[in-house]
Amino acid sequence: MTSTGNGIGNDGTDPELGPERLNATGPDNAGVSPMKTLDQVADLVRNCTDCPLSGGRTNAVPGEGNPQAEVMFIGEGPGFQEDRQGRPFVGPAGKLLDGLLASIGTNREDVFIANVVKCRPPDNRDPAPAEMAACAKYLDRQIELVNPKLIVTLGRFAFGRYFPGEGITKARGKLREKDGRKIFPVLHPAAVLRREELRPTMIDDFKAISEILEGGTEGPGRVPDAREPDGMTPEAPQPAQLSFVNAPVRADVPETSAETPTVNVEEASRPEQLTLF
Ligand code: SF4
Repeated sequence: MTSTGNGIGNDGTDPELGPERLNATGPDNAGVSPMKTLDQVADLVRNCTDCPLSGGRTNAVPGEGNPQAEVMFIGEGPGFQEDRQGRPFVGPAGKLLDGLLASIGTNREDVFIANVVKCRPPDNRDPAPAEMAACAKYLDRQIELVNPKLIVTLGRFAFGRYFPGEGITKARGKLREKDGRKIFPVLHPAAVLRREELRPTMIDDFKAISEILEGGTEGPGRVPDAREPDGMTPEAPQPAQLSFVNAPVRADVPETSAETPTVNVEEASRPEQLTLF
C-alpha cells in the first residue's frame, strides 16, 4: 500500500476543519438525527453519505472503546485494514498502538479510539477539509459523550483539528488546552513505523501520558492555555478518578528503552511475544 498524499492511514501503510458544525444533539438540521448515545453515533456513521468518502468505503469506522474512558485517542482516518474490518487501528499501526498502551499498563478496552474521518480516503490520501468538516459532528459528539479527561491526538491531522497551522513535530509531547479540553499531541504510530528513529520519542510521549494522569495536568513540557491569565494550572482531575494509570503494569511487557528498538509489529498484539522496545 502506498500513499498518494501526505496522509497516514491508520493501517500503517501509508487535517484544518471548516467552520460548519452541526448540532449533534439537536433536531435534524442537515439529515442527521439526534445522537444521544455512542451507539446512535455509530449507527449514523455506518449509514452516512455526507461526504464523498462514503462512496469508496467497505465499512465505516465509527470508533470504539470504553464509553467512560479517561483517555481518548484520535487518529486521522481508516486505512486498508480498518476499512475491511470496520474497526479503528487494527493494522500494523494499531498493533504498535496496542503495544504502546500495554507499555503504560492499559489496553484499548480502557480507552476510546476514534478518527477525524470515519471512512477511508482513497489510497490513504489526506482527508480533504470538506470531508473533515462534514465528519466533525460525529467526533464532536463522541467527545461530548465520552467526556475524557485527556485527548491524545495521533499525528498532524488530529492535532490540526485543535491547533490548525501548527506543526506536530514541535508540538508533540506538550500538554495543551483548547476549549476546556486537555490535548496531548503525539506522533502517529504509522509515522513511527515508517521512521524507526522516532520510536524512542513515541515511547517517551506515552510515558508522559501516564505522568500527566498521575500528576494531574502538569505534563512534561506543558504549554499553558492562552486563556490562563497568569499561567496558573487549571483544576487537576482527582487522583481517585484516574483508574487509567492505576491499572497493573503487565509484567510481560519489557521495560521501555530507546536503546532496544527492535520491533515485531505483527506480534505486538500478543503479549507473550511483545518485542516492541
Ligand atoms: S467520512 Fe464521515 S461525513 Fe464522510 S461519509 Fe464517512 S461518516 Fe459521513
